[in-house]
Amino acid sequence: MTALTIQGISKSFEGVQALQATDLVIASGKFTTLLGPSGCGKTTLLRMIAGLETPDQGELRIANDILYSSKQRKNVPPHRRGFGMVFQEFALWPHLTVFENVAFSLRASGQKKDIKARVLTALEQVRLQGMEQRYPHQLSGGQQQRVAFARAIVMQPRLILFDEPLSALDAILRDEMRTELMNLVQQLGVTALYVTHDQTEAMAMSDEIIVMQSGSILQRGTPEQIYQQPSHPFVARFIGHSNWIDNGHQMVRPEHIRWYSNHSPDEHIHTGMIKQVSYMGDRYEILLDMGEERLWTAYQDERMTVGESVTIYISAHHVHTLNPV
Ligand code: ADP
Ligand code: MG
Repeated sequence: MTALTIQGISKSFEGVQALQATDLVIASGKFTTLLGPSGCGKTTLLRMIAGLETPDQGELRIANDILYSSKQRKNVPPHRRGFGMVFQEFALWPHLTVFENVAFSLRASGQKKDIKARVLTALEQVRLQGMEQRYPHQLSGGQQQRVAFARAIVMQPRLILFDEPLSALDAILRDEMRTELMNLVQQLGVTALYVTHDQTEAMAMSDEIIVMQSGSILQRGTPEQIYQQPSHPFVARFIGHSNWIDNGHQMVRPEHIRWYSNHSPDEHIHTGMIKQVSYMGDRYEILLDMGEERLWTAYQDERMTVGESVTIYISAHHVHTLNPV
């Protein structure tokens, strides 16, 4: 597949602007994530790409292949776009077997040949061989989600759209399914566009993250770029703990707050009081009260006492400066 190009696509519902005019190119063969809080327009954008929602204006295309154009009054229906889709609610047909759930989209698109072989291959790819004759209610949550994956890949799509596919699962299963989903996408070599409000999930899975807020894109970049060089205070606050020092647009991450001086002349030195201690298993997270500000730090060794006074050190090269907005 060549890149998916989004040009000037916008959408409002009853006067509420769900998505501002947006330009975006989604790279082929990559795992790209739309990340942002609930209500910022992620699902609206994904559904417009799928063809399930009509944009107010703009153009969508794959290479020179136009999927939607307001100017040319062109709108390719969802089943002709060649995309797979996985939703949060799995959306399986309860009265159909696993086999028939996966075969459904093949039959609906008029395919008659090789249905059995293609369904069995898809089920094997998600490790559900032998489960063909079961019904959804006879499967665990993780197995149901794998049926939804099989249904998305059986058409051999050029792009798979995922809308918060793991958020209905409990924490342990979510971690397992995250690994499975990443493996599957990698094995198939398919382009993935993934929606989540979960920063950890986005960081763990993506080649590239697109951060959204209130219907707009704020920043795009690799997980490292988004975490280390946020371009906007909202991005810095939304991903990980951010500490704001001095004039409010200088930011430092917890792991760069040192408890011992490295005796370099560029160190900022602060004193404060331990306000809160949280044991996270692999580290203690400590909230410091610095008078004006509060700072999160990651401290590795032993439990410290709330109320204790401490001195901390921050090297100038770990301070990230954001442009004031
Ligand atoms: P997200 O997926 O990021 O949580 P959505 O794309 O679902 O956000 O919603 C963006 C905004 O558009 C929200 O304010 C939401 O209430 C509104 N919205 C989404 N779909 C509809 C709809 N069908 N009718 C009216 N408002 C909608
Ligand atoms: Mg949504």
